[in-house]
Amino acid sequence: MVFFNNLGISGVAIFAILSGMIIVSIVFGEINYMVALGQTGGGETIVNGPQDVSENGDKKLAIITFDDGKKGQIKYAKQTLDSYGYPATFSIICNNVSLSDHLNWHDIQQLEKDGYDLASHTMNHVELEDIPMDIAIHEISESKKCLLDNGVRDVRVFTYPKNGGSDNPAILKEVAKHYDMARTANDPLAFVKCGLTNSSLQDEKIDCTSLGDSEEYGKYSIIGWSHDSEREDNEYNDEQMLQRFIDVVESQSGYNDGEEIGAIPIIIYHDIDTTSGFYTTSFDLFKAEMKYLQDNGFTVISLLDLI
Ligand SMILES: [Zn+2]
Repeated sequence: MVFFNNLGISGVAIFAILSGMIIVSIVFGEINYMVALGQTGGGETIVNGPQDVSENGDKKLAIITFDDGKKGQIKYAKQTLDSYGYPATFSIICNNVSLSDHLNWHDIQQLEKDGYDLASHTMNHVELEDIPMDIAIHEISESKKCLLDNGVRDVRVFTYPKNGGSDNPAILKEVAKHYDMARTANDPLAFVKCGLTNSSLQDEKIDCTSLGDSEEYGKYSIIGWSHDSEREDNEYNDEQMLQRFIDVVESQSGYNDGEEIGAIPIIIYHDIDTTSGFYTTSFDLFKAEMKYLQDNGFTVISLLDLI
């Protein structure tokens, strides 16, 4: 891949427990970040972030996505996204709509009405490279039709269940027939070779038209970072996950130069609920992560801003 590569990130984390509150200190070069995630008497999460981390002038971006159409996305996450005005893309598994703990069609239409993007995550959430091609084609194409038939006005984005098939040329070609872009996973950063043009600065859009010119299918295998598989793999608690989140989103600073964007974290969440669990992020942690972006100079853009 020319524009989306696999590279690691670095950072140093130090933990200390003071009076029941866990303080996370992360050192990136000469910049120190102090963030506290804890509980007040009223149960409200406190996060304190510095206001001046963008003093070097490098732009920092983040993209927020939600997979699998889980109920907590509208029950919990939406109010926080609304409060910050952050865009987000919600990927729907068509045959799972209205199942227990999943969004229903009214929820999905409401998300779109309120300005969020809807994406197809296939009909049945099967790994596309593991099934016959005619069935894969049905999963890719019919899921867009299903969303449109159920009141979604616009479906331009596809996301690969379990990342399957995003390196298969026949599947990429089929996805490209129906969608404007597609997201897979799993790396902390999506590396992009593009910059912000003067005109795009006015609306925070990125000029990435070169994606289509130089790498025909590059925009159909854009790399996201699965927040939840990372926690599952490492058995992080919320404090450790917040530290890892900060590590990931700040790691782009080594690749961006002023308005020139080299790398963007594309965060993938699944369910949001009162406590963290298997592919579920606690509402307190989600709020802390969104507040961190707000307090530390990040601009949140949508996936579709990449094309
Ligand atoms: Zn999924």
